[in-house]
Amino acid sequence: MAKKQFKTESKKILDMMVNSIYTHKEIFLRELISNASDAIDKRYFQALTEPSLGLDKEDYEIRLAVDKENRTITVSDNGCGMTPDELEKNLGTIARSGSLDFKKTQSELDQSEIDIIGQFGVGFYSAFMVSDHVTVISKAAGSNEAAVWESSGADGYTIRTCEKEEPGTEVVLHLKEDAEGEDYSAFLDSWKIRELVKKYSDYVRYPIRMLTEHSRKKEDSEEYETVQEDETLNSMIPIWKRDPSEVTEDEYAQFYTEKYYDYEKPLKVIRQKAEGTTDYTALLFIPSHAPYDYYSRTYEKGLQLYSSGVMIMDKCKDLIPDHFSFVRGLVDSSDLSLNVSREMLQEDRTLKIISRALEKKIAGELDKMLKEDREHYEQFYKAFGTQLKYGVYSDFGMHKDVLQDLLMFSSSFENKLTTLSEYVSRMPESQKKIYYASGETVDQLRMLPQVEAVVNHGYEVLFLTEDVDEFALQILRSYQDKEFANVSENSDELSSDDEKKALEEENKNCEELFRFMKDTLGDAVTQVRFTNNLGNHAAALSNEGPVSMGMEKVLNRMPGMEEEVKAKLVLELNLNHPIANKVKELFGSDQVRLADYTKILYANARLVSGLSLDNPSEISDLVVSLMV
Ligand code: ADP
Ligand code: MG
Repeated sequence: MAKKQFKTESKKILDMMVNSIYTHKEIFLRELISNASDAIDKRYFQALTEPSLGLDKEDYEIRLAVDKENRTITVSDNGCGMTPDELEKNLGTIARSGSLDFKKTQSELDQSEIDIIGQFGVGFYSAFMVSDHVTVISKAAGSNEAAVWESSGADGYTIRTCEKEEPGTEVVLHLKEDAEGEDYSAFLDSWKIRELVKKYSDYVRYPIRMLTEHSRKKEDSEEYETVQEDETLNSMIPIWKRDPSEVTEDEYAQFYTEKYYDYEKPLKVIRQKAEGTTDYTALLFIPSHAPYDYYSRTYEKGLQLYSSGVMIMDKCKDLIPDHFSFVRGLVDSSDLSLNVSREMLQEDRTLKIISRALEKKIAGELDKMLKEDREHYEQFYKAFGTQLKYGVYSDFGMHKDVLQDLLMFSSSFENKLTTLSEYVSRMPESQKKIYYASGETVDQLRMLPQVEAVVNHGYEVLFLTEDVDEFALQILRSYQDKEFANVSENSDELSSDDEKKALEEENKNCEELFRFMKDTLGDAVTQVRFTNNLGNHAAALSNEGPVSMGMEKVLNRMPGMEEEVKAKLVLELNLNHPIANKVKELFGSDQVRLADYTKILYANARLVSGLSLDNPSEISDLVVSLMV
């Protein structure tokens, strides 16, 4: 019989399949099952107007069979079937509009692109990834002609008429021989088939059945016998399609722990169903703890994407913004086609609409948890708060409106986390700014002279102990029109106008003294001055400019920082402390001693701020020399 040639486009796809460039070869089964399910849908719809064409609803099924001896897998359905003409048209020419970008030839694609394309629908020809010969026997519902289509790949196909009793289609794959690194025989294992159905086709609406062998104890005997049993491999109705009021918390928890390999049940389950311009259902989970690799590069965010119950992508990154990358779950939409390429998906309007709606929903649920279930929110925040703060900081603050109300910080108010809005609600009328201090630990920060001064003044201070904190606040700049202020930068507000004036004058009078002290310290500080906000403490460091001491540490730790970043430090002396008069006096009487004092004061101030010393032994010698 003369072989017919595939159309050009089809031949290209076929070539890719025959040469099996995808690592996801196993998806052939998903493709054939989804075609079978589509075919049943079609017959079901035909029967709505032409009842004689249909079956009883419960009789529709998809069947799988494996034959180890002959190395075949058969996928059959009692769907609409195909006439000989349709076989020719549908399998000889496959119009894969946009499914693969053929401007690029196969050799130009790199492996990761290939793999990604391979996760999407690649259609009927995917059968050739695992088979060296494919036979399709089909009979259309309402026709009495059946035909068989056969092909061994790129060199063409044949079609001839044959006998088939019932309408429907039977696809028989003859598996390739195993080769190095390619274990096609694995697909002949019914466990493997079961696993693949569970993984990709669990929620296909029709039963996927297979005769499987079980061993069973013989009646009245100790012996075992092998029996064949019809088994339905798929669960058909997905948990996210069930009426929310009928699904118990335990069922969600079980679904979650099994699907995402978590040993703990989720902290929160979120369901969303949208109808209208975009139809989709989403089932999302907030884990109760961070996965071990969450804050590392190996963690991949993403939701599973289903198209009418068939999984088309395992980790769709575009569905979830980075700041909510901890959310797990899935989206099922009938508005997405199975045969969509990665490029199309990125451009996909539907997907963008869905991801925006999900972001809003997640933010709303977190906000609700914060207001109504503080304990769980704090648990959530301990696990993922850092990510929210990174979210505020990233993309130049683009997401700050979504995130700022979800942030929490330690504070001087009480030994608990506080939100920014709670902080603001406690601000006395005289307070204009939101104060914060940054350092290694809350205990250390509590003792910082500047913190003491602000707190003694009756104002609250936020304690920032994570690297990202200060960067996030800098991007926010203000909250409810109250600017953020580092206590070591400005606490002007604490003094009265008279006090400020007196301070200014005193600083002016001592310009020469301060120049001497600054020269003693060299580049370490940009300035020395008096302040009146240090409580009982003699000296402290403050800083000027955009880089704080805390940020200096973080920035210099970052890989790829070529030049060392330096915070501009100011050595501040307490005008209300005896040290003020002491240095003035020494400036006139003993400048050698003043130089030593200056070094010690500076070293002290560094220690108080949690910074290390470059010259610890010099300092300790100086201190001891004052003692003896
Ligand atoms: P798609 O499913 O996206 O249309 P495929 O390559 O998977 O693309 O299938 C090509 C066409 O072959 C289908 O559109 C359908 O018309 C036909 N077809 C494939 N499998 C079956 C089947 N089991 N029953 C009826 N028609 C089928
Ligand atoms: Mg298909």
